[in-house]
Amino acid sequence: MTLDKLQFETKYLSLDPEFYELTKPIPLNEPYFISFNPEVAELIDLDEVRKDDATFLKLLNGTFIPESAKTFAMCYAGHQFSHYAIRLGDGRAINYGSINGWNIQTKGSGETAYSRTADGRAALPSSIREYLMSEAMHHLGIPSTRALGIIGSQTKLLRNTIEKGAIIMRLSPSWIRFGTFEYFSYLKEYDKLKSLTDYAITESYPHLENKEDRYYQFFSEVVERTAKLIAHWQGVGFCHGVMNTDNMSIAGLTLDYGPFSMLDDFDFGFVCNSTDKAGRYAYGEQPNISYWNLTKFSKALAPIIDVKKMEQKLEDYGSFIYPNAYIKVMRQKMGLEFELNEDMELIENLVGTLQDAYIDHTIFFRTLSHYDGERMPIFELAMNPVPLDTWLTLYDKRLEKETRTHTERQNFMLKTNPKYVLKNYMLQDAIALTKGGNFSRVEELLYIAQHPFDELPEFEKFAVETPEHYKNVTLSCSS
Ligand code: AMP
Ligand code: MG
Repeated sequence: MTLDKLQFETKYLSLDPEFYELTKPIPLNEPYFISFNPEVAELIDLDEVRKDDATFLKLLNGTFIPESAKTFAMCYAGHQFSHYAIRLGDGRAINYGSINGWNIQTKGSGETAYSRTADGRAALPSSIREYLMSEAMHHLGIPSTRALGIIGSQTKLLRNTIEKGAIIMRLSPSWIRFGTFEYFSYLKEYDKLKSLTDYAITESYPHLENKEDRYYQFFSEVVERTAKLIAHWQGVGFCHGVMNTDNMSIAGLTLDYGPFSMLDDFDFGFVCNSTDKAGRYAYGEQPNISYWNLTKFSKALAPIIDVKKMEQKLEDYGSFIYPNAYIKVMRQKMGLEFELNEDMELIENLVGTLQDAYIDHTIFFRTLSHYDGERMPIFELAMNPVPLDTWLTLYDKRLEKETRTHTERQNFMLKTNPKYVLKNYMLQDAIALTKGGNFSRVEELLYIAQHPFDELPEFEKFAVETPEHYKNVTLSCSS
């Protein structure tokens, strides 16, 4: 399939008109090609696009809209930093419809009915970050939206400094957020709340369609998926930065990449969003915040679902659904095959140890993946190796209860603990080069994002400890 023949379906428009606003993209000035992702193109049966393909530029910039597409922005609300905002919506994203179940949007395509006082644009740095990071998350095995391509432009934007506008084309099995439910619930539009729930079930939980108790089952599965998602984030060391309910996916996907960060040194208290002064969305708070967000989601659904049942589910989330999801992820990271009751203690001990050791999260687990009883390579990573010694003694004892050989465990762990993650400083370097017209780093990072578990000798420079002065870079929502 070529770009000009893409066939979109626009099922969302069968919902009540209050769910969206029809709108047209506003093109950027002097658009230019930055990157195209063939792997995502395959999802929509699209042929490879050449760098100089004019249709690609036009499609992303909104000067070519395929006949089958209907462009619209979606309406939603959400709790932002705990305060309820009655009306948010796609202020800078424009939907085109779906292909093969992938809902396609451009982000940064100008004002919509939901832009409020903002410009509807996305700056080049944040666009490159989302383009690359969404791909990295997917390849780390973490549910995420994806991105097809990115263009830059000469359109100037006022941010902390003057930036240039960019557009990514991004895809998701669903763009529906907890906040979409909140919008209709707070307005007491319960019929619309029901039609939204039916729509979300068809889109993301079709196996529930004919179930009698399907609304509760839907809630229950959103809870389960959220647990798995957050457990993955904690395991890999991903900090989202803006876990507002409008950024929480009902399909359990990582959604809306803003001031996110991978951990450099392990730190529960790390806050990647410079506007988050209270540390609400600190790395170590993410599980609690996911619970808080689910309670807001349940409140939105209260008019159509038995509240007692939802309360019970939320209690279960805190007491075993999330903990079990987390233990599962951590067992895999430690290469443990058997499920023993004592494992939670081993995990708690481990994260406490990492907190005290001043040690790079990613490199620690990758090095642990080579562990054969020789502790020195691990000690060498830490500023304070003493607690690691104690933990490794516990780990050795636990390994004795496994039947896997060292080699078997190592092979498993090398496929679980990535060698390559996209740290903020790498993204910042790629952005700086792009501003100078050099896009090669974006391609390199796209490559390592898509091969996080491989040994890539030519990219060894991306697997080293973050240089001290680049550690814990924080960004704001508008970066
Ligand atoms: P975010 O924190 O990026 O998820 O955005 C929160 C809300 O603000 C959403 O409704 C966005 O669409 C909107 N928004 C963020 N940046 C802009 C912008 N530059 N122009 C218009 N709306 C925006
Ligand atoms: Mg958002």
